Amino acid sequence: MKTKGAILWGVGEEWSIEEIELGDPKAGEVQVQLAASGLCHSDEHLVTGGTPVAFYPVIGGHEGAGVVTKVGPGVTGLQEGDHVVTAFIPACGQCPPCSKGMQNLCDLGANLLAGTSISDGSYRVQARGKDVIPMCLLGTFSPYITVHQASVVKVEPDIPLEIAALVGCGVTTGWGSATKVADVRPGENVVVMGAGGVGMNAVQGAAAAGAKRVMVIEPVAKKREWAMDMGATHTFESAEEATGKVNELTWGRMADKTIITVGDIQGEDIQTALSLTGKGGRAVVTGMGNYANTDVKLSLFELTLLQKDLQGAIFGGLAPRAAIPELLALYQEGQLKLDELATTKYALEDINQGYQDMRDGKNIRGMVVYTDADR
Ligand SMILES: [Zn+2]
Ligand SMILES: [Zn+2]
Repeated sequence: MKTKGAILWGVGEEWSIEEIELGDPKAGEVQVQLAASGLCHSDEHLVTGGTPVAFYPVIGGHEGAGVVTKVGPGVTGLQEGDHVVTAFIPACGQCPPCSKGMQNLCDLGANLLAGTSISDGSYRVQARGKDVIPMCLLGTFSPYITVHQASVVKVEPDIPLEIAALVGCGVTTGWGSATKVADVRPGENVVVMGAGGVGMNAVQGAAAAGAKRVMVIEPVAKKREWAMDMGATHTFESAEEATGKVNELTWGRMADKTIITVGDIQGEDIQTALSLTGKGGRAVVTGMGNYANTDVKLSLFELTLLQKDLQGAIFGGLAPRAAIPELLALYQEGQLKLDELATTKYALEDINQGYQDMRDGKNIRGMVVYTDADR
């Protein structure tokens, strides 16, 4: 079928909204009509070249939700009309990591940046006659996607799809970084570095886990305000400002857990986080950095003698098939704020404006919302 998509033709270019050819579902695949797609910082890493892909063009987007419109042969547990959220890591449930409770590290994620389809290694999207890599095997910057069943999670039909899209990446990543990977316990002191679409949910997760203080470092004033609404107890403009205040507030013990959720992590951020973390504490690295950056500032002396723990995290350490429905259930019970996260809605045509607004720190999450005009 012919539809539209936001395509990136090379590093440093703008998103180009143009006609694409989308293939029908093959074995194990479904086609989904999307209601919305989040504008995540990870797609910006394709623009800067910070995330390497096998080739360009790429169709961006990996945080979507919609309704199944076509079902390919061999699909189990999904039918036309089902509401689904995309999972940016496929989750097969059967490979060794999935079987060992690490569905966020599913082996089907191996070709995430090569873009070859799980079912037969070919491509479902073409633009200007060329194969297109779908970001994270999804490519949600289009009102329709054809993806493997391992890349979608069925959700309850009474949840607004625009809201459900948020748990496909940012919400789950942030929430799990606090509740699962940092393993925040009641009474703990937590620092969150960066209050964007991920960090804001690390704040929500830490608060829900019973943290005594959730202290946020965020340079943008409006985001510091929003963070207080999401459960932060203190906010600081910079790490320098935070260091003295966290020391004072915790009587010198510093944070039990520090979560780095800045959109473009730098090597210096590691030592900053470890310095804010007290002895025996844990620093969680959730933000993404440039793939070529291997330089990290790290005091080996502190790491060993103060027995600090430095831990990476993808998808908040959570299993997409369990976490996505659970978080939406928390939303329905009023225990998770999602409506407040989508601060601006954009038409697909305005996606470059959406990313400019992200660079300018204007949103928690910008969302592309699809209408019949897009289809
Ligand atoms: Zn993302
Ligand atoms: Zn798996």
